Amino acid sequence: MSKRTRRPVPQFATPIIETHCHLDYLASDDMGAALAEIESAGVERLITIAVSPDNLAVVLDLVERFASVWGTQGIHPHEAEHWNSSVAEAVVRGTAHPKIVAVGEIGLDYYYQHARREVQISAFDEQLALAGELDLPVVIHTRDADDDTRAVLANHLGGLKRKGVIHSFTSSLELAEYCLQEGFHLGFNGICTFNNADNVRAIIAATPVEKILLETDSPYLTPAPYRGRANSPRYLPLVAEKVAEVKAMPVEDLLHIVRHNSQSLFFEAP
Ligand SMILES: [Zn+2]
Repeated sequence: MSKRTRRPVPQFATPIIETHCHLDYLASDDMGAALAEIESAGVERLITIAVSPDNLAVVLDLVERFASVWGTQGIHPHEAEHWNSSVAEAVVRGTAHPKIVAVGEIGLDYYYQHARREVQISAFDEQLALAGELDLPVVIHTRDADDDTRAVLANHLGGLKRKGVIHSFTSSLELAEYCLQEGFHLGFNGICTFNNADNVRAIIAATPVEKILLETDSPYLTPAPYRGRANSPRYLPLVAEKVAEVKAMPVEDLLHIVRHNSQSLFFEAP
């Protein structure tokens, strides 16, 4: 398998914004060299996502050190048992950095359920409230938790001026429609290149291009034909190519629109 030549990653003219990756989990001894390679693949900016009390400061360090790297502050549902008032204070302090562009990733995961449901719900609920007070968009993770995600979100729609993104969207069309109607974007990654992901491609087909964001969620979810390797933002063009194919539009046209979507959600005043 590894000896077979794989189709090279396509290179596009329009620069791409990587809206969801975990740079600190990429196995790289030389982050500067890794980022140079990622940038030469056409990725102009990356948002590296915080997940736990441990990596809030790591994300802040990355955004300080590298010009193309931006970040978030927040606690993932897997880590919800660690959510408390001092972690909340650290999240709020971290968001004061000018390169922190969202609260996340936050949400509910009943598939793995590493934290108790009621604990996940309160961490999600409190971080949505914080995002509203801070006037920041949110990066939401939801898996096998459609009804509760919708119920918790419903309490915050008025408070969240900037809304945000449901990243790595794999939930139902009903939840997609609800989130789109309430002003959220949907984020898609390498899953859309998997053979068994017709459900995700159907969601992409149903999502207006103006509401789509591109991400890799690296080092997870490596797109075809590179499955089996650790993912990297340098594979993002493969995600763009598949999303454009599903939307039946030229890749450069898609990239132009999604770049604008990312800029207006994360990098411009509302
Ligand atoms: Zn993630």
